[in-house]
Amino acid sequence: MKDGHNGDRVHTDEMATKVVCIEDNPQNSRLIRKMLGSAGYHVIEASDGASGHEAVLRERPVLILMDVNLPDVDGLELTQRIKANPELQHIPVVALTANAMYGDRERCLAAGCNDYLPKPVTKSMLLSTVASLLGDAASTAAGS
Ligand code: MN
Repeated sequence: MKDGHNGDRVHTDEMATKVVCIEDNPQNSRLIRKMLGSAGYHVIEASDGASGHEAVLRERPVLILMDVNLPDVDGLELTQRIKANPELQHIPVVALTANAMYGDRERCLAAGCNDYLPKPVTKSMLLSTVASLLGDAASTAAGS
């Protein structure tokens, strides 16, 4: 059970809260950066698969948000590549899907995504999904 009673900003190392967002729509990307930024995450934005892959290799984020429809590569193909890399495969990947259709969830999970969010992404859905994938380490300092 989670609650937001504590107004204190949990101060964690910036390394621990880096998220790479691979999304070619600048408005969506900006919105996600703002939503995650308000929760203390540092978002590195990439607008295509190639630069997104580079950003993941360079930044070693704690989580990746992956648009499924990218200009240069299928986001699910890129997810498979990331999940095939022993140095990256532990990083949770959340697929972002437009025009949510029956079967999206299965397709995303089959490609190795840890979860998926249909667009438009809401702040509460985004933050709860990210927090549940990252667990207590990133969401709260209470308990152990
Ligand atoms: Mn797209």
